[in-house]
Amino acid sequence: MPTILSKNQDYSITKIEIIMLKIPYPHPFRIALAVMDCAQNIVVRVHDSDGLVGVGEGCPPRFVTGEAPETAFEAAKLYARILLDKNPLEIDARLAELERFMLKNSAVRCAYDLALYDLLAKHASLPLYALLGGTKQVVYSNRTIGMDTPEVMAIAAASFVAGGAKSLKVKVGTGRDDDLARVRAIRKAAGKGIAMRLDANQAWDEATAISALTAMADYDLQLCEQPLPYWNEAGLKRVREHSPIPIMADETIFDHHDAFRLAAAGAVDYFNIKLSKSAGIHNALKINAIGEAAGIQCMLGGMSESLIGVSAGAHLICACPNIALADMDSPFHFSEDPTLSGVDFQADGMVTLRDTPGHGADVKPEWVERSEKVEISV
Ligand code: MG
Repeated sequence: MPTILSKNQDYSITKIEIIMLKIPYPHPFRIALAVMDCAQNIVVRVHDSDGLVGVGEGCPPRFVTGEAPETAFEAAKLYARILLDKNPLEIDARLAELERFMLKNSAVRCAYDLALYDLLAKHASLPLYALLGGTKQVVYSNRTIGMDTPEVMAIAAASFVAGGAKSLKVKVGTGRDDDLARVRAIRKAAGKGIAMRLDANQAWDEATAISALTAMADYDLQLCEQPLPYWNEAGLKRVREHSPIPIMADETIFDHHDAFRLAAAGAVDYFNIKLSKSAGIHNALKINAIGEAAGIQCMLGGMSESLIGVSAGAHLICACPNIALADMDSPFHFSEDPTLSGVDFQADGMVTLRDTPGHGADVKPEWVERSEKVEISV
């Protein structure tokens, strides 16, 4: 079938490059779930018969999506064979085929989803935010403080604030008193007027969560992400009912089905949308729509994405006013930037979009060269 958008009667996907982007960190980054010393992301470059290339990225952390870099790389190869020789602009149909072929693997499916949206926007010669019906705007991300001693975390907070950051995200999760000491030290170092969010990454039980959040009531915290294990949805509701600080679901919410259940239960105040959990933009839009209908604002969060995933996220934010918060500073953890173009991300958290077609980001050729990769073609 010829497409409306393409002049080519046999318009289709001709080739897919799969690249394992392994990006070292200069310092280990600690959260309650893990200590990370590098990012290992899957990038796909989807080529079409018109000579355009869509680029997408997924970040597969074992402890969140259940994927490992090695399994993600293999899954990406299997998915590539489903997509080859088909029309990439029929995004809904292509993504449904991927999910039907193999469930879960949300980070790999995210890489393909972002690549297909990037390709569609390039076909339309529009920046991705415009394709999605959005308005170009500057996006402000928080800066994230990894878990450490209160003293070290306070130094990081002071440094971010001195650099112009207006919003901090604080990783906690070793117990009520430790975490209270962290919050106290960081608020003192950051001063008033700096927005502060907490993320316990599933580390607390219900009693600890209620006790810790009650004790933190005086430190002007905007919200607490994922106080309980991912499976404890009923517990989230109970914590929300007793906490003076609003609650955000992160590891509990992957897709729109989770969003619907959480909204219907009144379990949380906010949703954290991450493209590598939602399997990309297609489902992220659905999560946001459910949030909007239920009066639940969303945050666009991230894991260890490079500027490829981050750029796609920033474009999505511009198309979704209900995504009111951004946590996407993962590229600042890297010792080297493996990407070209994409958004401009300043150390104070300010993200500025460009008007090139698509999300604009790609892998630097020298990084393609040195990375583990495979090419699959028709
Ligand atoms: Mg989180």
